[in-house]
Amino acid sequence: MERTLVTGGAGFLGSHLCDALLQEGHEVICMDNLITGSRDNLVHIDSDRFHFMRHDVTRRIDMKGPIDNVFHFASPASPVDYLEFSIQTMKVGSLGTHNALGVAKNKQARFMIASTSEIYGDPLEHPQKETYWGNVNTIGPRGVYDEAKRFSEAITMAYHRAHGIDTRIIRIFNTYGPRMRIKDGRAIPNFMFQALTGQDLTVYGDGSQTRSFCYVSDLIDGIVRLMRSGHHDPVNLGNPVEISLLEMAEKILQVTGSKSKIIFKPLPEDDPKVRQPDITQARNLLGWEPRVDLEEGLQATLDYFRTSIDAQKAEP
Ligand code: UDP
Repeated sequence: MERTLVTGGAGFLGSHLCDALLQEGHEVICMDNLITGSRDNLVHIDSDRFHFMRHDVTRRIDMKGPIDNVFHFASPASPVDYLEFSIQTMKVGSLGTHNALGVAKNKQARFMIASTSEIYGDPLEHPQKETYWGNVNTIGPRGVYDEAKRFSEAITMAYHRAHGIDTRIIRIFNTYGPRMRIKDGRAIPNFMFQALTGQDLTVYGDGSQTRSFCYVSDLIDGIVRLMRSGHHDPVNLGNPVEISLLEMAEKILQVTGSKSKIIFKPLPEDDPKVRQPDITQARNLLGWEPRVDLEEGLQATLDYFRTSIDAQKAEP
């Protein structure tokens, strides 16, 4: 049986990854300091192969016993969160990645870093291929996340080259689905919450900026495939179907059947104008293709948000 450490395992992606690994028969150690993750994302797990460790990955990690895989997924990931937790975001990407790589080196484990499309910044190449080096404002409000993740990629490659660690780098594009925090500030949770509670949908800027949204089960499938592959260079994972944020707001009004209005708010600083992954590499290397279309994914997400809003209302 493989023993696998998932940092950030109580987060949106981390918890889905824990589920997939348990499904694959791994023993899973889920590490999280719960600043943006939540035990609620783990309550459904009923397995004696699952262990939760409340620990801040930026502090020294002492793991007992063998470890076969380390997935370093800990980090605030919503722009609102990484503005609020700016120093923690920089620390988890730098010190945290260093510590997680240290575990991989010590245990001779495979290592995967959750990198991001944010390393491309406000891209001058469109769609973005892995060979594009990016256009990041280092000192802007998003710089804390972008540069921490760029550092993570660099130190991961350094450990691969210097110590021969079996590493993987995924660049994750916008992903959505159940277990996103309804108040995490990202577009889909915001629009759904607003639509379901009769508030205006807040489109930033004129809504012409684009993103490409991947449903969480597709992303997790790609992650598992990449870990099994022997590929060390970065791989984009995301759904290449690109949509403007105004269209997304309209779509959410449609799926929720809400009568809310759309209003426009100022565009946050350095908000990328376009984003779409080129997934040729993932297709060729991993035989991977996103399968869940936007309607289906939004419906499943809507069911989750409806339930979590009802649960919040029921709280005393
Ligand atoms: N956005 C928006 N309204 C919101 C939240 C976000 O129009 O209530 C926009 C945001 O400006 C960005 C896009 O939606 O252009 C995606 O933002 P998100 O925070 O989901 O993630 P990002 O891709 O910027 O990391």
